[in-house]
Amino acid sequence: MFAFENWHSALEIKRYMVRFMHLLEGMNQLEGILHTKYNQYDSLILPLVTWLKKQGVKPQLGVQVTDLDIKVTDTEKTVTRIYLRRDNKKEVIETTVDDLVFVTNGSMTENSSLGSMHQPAVLNRDMKQRGCWTLWENIAKQSPDLGHPEKFVGDIDRSKWLSFTATITNKPTVFEYILELTGDKPGMGGAVTIKDSNWLITWVTPRQPHFINQPKNAQVIWAYGLFPDAVGNFVKKKMSDCTGEELFTELLYHLGLEDQIPQIIKCSNVIPCMMPYITSQFMPRKRGDRPDVVPQGSTNLAFLGQFAEIPNDCVFTVEYSVRSAIMAVYGLLGLDKQVPPVYEGQFDIRVLLKALKTMMGDKQFSLDKLLDQFMKNTGLK
Ligand SMILES: Cc1cc2nc3c(=O)[nH]c(=O)nc-3n(C[C@H](O)[C@H](O)[C@H](O)COP(=O)(O)OP(=O)(O)OC[C@H]3O[C@@H](n4cnc5c(N)ncnc54)[C@H](O)[C@@H]3O)c2cc1C
Repeated sequence: MFAFENWHSALEIKRYMVRFMHLLEGMNQLEGILHTKYNQYDSLILPLVTWLKKQGVKPQLGVQVTDLDIKVTDTEKTVTRIYLRRDNKKEVIETTVDDLVFVTNGSMTENSSLGSMHQPAVLNRDMKQRGCWTLWENIAKQSPDLGHPEKFVGDIDRSKWLSFTATITNKPTVFEYILELTGDKPGMGGAVTIKDSNWLITWVTPRQPHFINQPKNAQVIWAYGLFPDAVGNFVKKKMSDCTGEELFTELLYHLGLEDQIPQIIKCSNVIPCMMPYITSQFMPRKRGDRPDVVPQGSTNLAFLGQFAEIPNDCVFTVEYSVRSAIMAVYGLLGLDKQVPPVYEGQFDIRVLLKALKTMMGDKQFSLDKLLDQFMKNTGLK
């Protein structure tokens, strides 16, 4: 529901339907969604990095890994060199089987660009400098089982979309009005899609404050549109050509606040963000397009994130990346520990029956007839 478009992977949507079947019952009310207290950086990344630093880990920012040398034989894959760029200087790190090399091979936020209240966010179409995609492209050339990045980043117009964050200061009534429309409490509801919007706008009202240190008189709303090349219903421009002010104007129009647009805009700061690869993980793929977390024969290399293969799990989630990291560590270190399994509600008869009831429009139906239908032309030998 979050970001699938008509041309995306049918396989991935099947995975989603199976994986989240237990949530189908509350879907029409957007119930059962778990939220972090603050935005995901402040709630998840910051505490984790703080903890890691206390353990002696030294994160190095501003360092770009550009390539790896991998010794590939019939039975072995070993990273022997890491090429990187630090302070605009090239560096090489020699590695052996006693080192561990974890690579995030692709990122949905790579090459994102920001606009402002009066400037649109310009789409970055650079295909040569694109961070961990470029790194993966270099790695993939070294062995066929290291994946096919071009499947995910070959068509920016099919993987991009535009989002915007509106910060409204000293005008709490707007936020309350938006909440009233859905009956949600801040941060408790789901993303709400305006199905008649040409841009297919969806908005989210997170719990406030959404950021640590957010001023008390400010409230933050996040929104995005899946069709940035379409012209708006009220603002007669392509979404991608719109400034922050124009994007928010279109949203306020759809919310029924047309008569208050000038006053609200005066109290708002809206930042557009264009993300060329935001749905790259949903692009159609086949087996082998994503490398295994620990590739066959690897002695020191593992892949992390949305573009490493995990059977049956769903991308566009933090959980997927976390699970890949657990698999990578247990796999490379040979730890005899169980990776937390993907929840499999499809094997729970209660989940199946509830999902079925929802699919049947919550009407009462006879189980006898249903079972007859299921059992038709089946038998035991
Ligand atoms: C707008 C939005 C909403 C989302 N909503 C949800 C949600 O509600 N629930 C949910 O579960 N998930 C959600 N997600 C998805 C989730 O945030 C991602 O799946 C997750 O953050 C991916 O983590 P990652 O560590 O695999 O990759 P990333 O977070 O993309 O990290 C990759 C890192 O690699 C670095 N890097 C890139 N190239 C290089 C290089 N060459 N050398 C060194 N470093 C490099 C980048 O700077 C970056 O820090 C959302 C994502 C977005 C963008």
